[in-house]
Amino acid sequence: MRIPVNAKSHSYEVFIGSGILRSACDALKEKIEKADKLVVFTDENVWQAQQQYFTENFPYPFEVFVMPGGEACKSFKNFEDAHTFLIENQCSRKSFLFAFGGGAVGDLTGFAAATFMRGVPYIQIPTTILAHDSAVGGKTAINHPLGKNMVGAFYQPEAVVYDINFLSSLPTKEIRSGMAEVIKHALISDEVWLKELMQTPSITDIEKPVLAKHLKSGIEVKANIVEQDETEHSVRKFLNFGHTYGHAIEAAAGYGGLAHGEAVMIGMVYALLLSEKYGRISREFTKEFVKFAYKNEYPLKQVNNYSFEDLYEYLMKDKKIEYGKLKFVLLQEIGKPFVKEIEEKECREVDSELRCLLE
Ligand code: NAD
Ligand code: ZN
Repeated sequence: MRIPVNAKSHSYEVFIGSGILRSACDALKEKIEKADKLVVFTDENVWQAQQQYFTENFPYPFEVFVMPGGEACKSFKNFEDAHTFLIENQCSRKSFLFAFGGGAVGDLTGFAAATFMRGVPYIQIPTTILAHDSAVGGKTAINHPLGKNMVGAFYQPEAVVYDINFLSSLPTKEIRSGMAEVIKHALISDEVWLKELMQTPSITDIEKPVLAKHLKSGIEVKANIVEQDETEHSVRKFLNFGHTYGHAIEAAAGYGGLAHGEAVMIGMVYALLLSEKYGRISREFTKEFVKFAYKNEYPLKQVNNYSFEDLYEYLMKDKKIEYGKLKFVLLQEIGKPFVKEIEEKECREVDSELRCLLE
């Protein structure tokens, strides 16, 4: 299955399905065979779990650069090591990179591709559920010690090859985290789809064909938004639903303490409470959503580990703050997002409401 992404700067396709690595690489042969060298960037966990399947199905010779697992690969040090690897392997402007891993590997590889000799092409080969989101849309970044994703570029890939066989070794916590982004895509786009997700017996144990369908729908939402607004001046902001408060919790927990999607799930409940005030979301729905989150073991109560003051400090550091104003993506109704500026006093009140609701 192929999903087109017609971004302004560059059009490409997302290939998605089970066992498609080889056929998708064959379909991309013309692009790939122009390269003088192929370099696969991956992390130690992904490489350990999926090296065999990858090497058996990737039909070209390649060099491999194995990085530290997870967020650690997005450090300045690793970014430098990546460039050192490319230079030492005589890579040129005609070389081609592959990001084989989760969102962290994707972000680092995309930024290395954007910057190596002022830009070489790359392909995303995502291996996490979350990366159905991060691999599409061309946001690339590394972290600064003072802030996550502070250094980066918009740089679209040549293609995304999403072989969902790679998800087989993903730990349950990461499945749960990634599914939060699928749920986000449903909340901002389609009530019927959201209801279907909320009726799923276990969000971390969905049969492959059904999971593929949900991931495809998520990618379509993302692609559609990126096509309208590649560089986040308007509708792309909607993808931050749940992320303002979610990022504050993630930062307060210390990155890695809570998985990204776990924090976003808390942020989405917070955004629903605000949407009750400024949109037509009912308290009944918010409660139903909380029940759904608990049933799927999202650790919502972790919010109680941090005071509102702690979180507010992080909220004000959010890089999406404009002119010192805190803005949230809210829902008019399911599928109808909008952006609203919220004052500190109200942030605090809703924070208290959230803590009561989660009791
Ligand atoms: P991740 O890349 O850190 O992967 C999570 C963990 O799972 C890591 O330890 C990794 O080694 C391991 N892993 C990955 N695939 C595996 C597999 N198939 N089998 C076994 N282990 C596997 O995390 P993520 O949740 O995929 O992505 C989070 C990152 O994505 C963050 O850095 C975030 O900033 C970024 N992000 C980027 C965008 C974007 O638009 N560029 C959007 C959302 C998030
Ligand atoms: Zn996210």
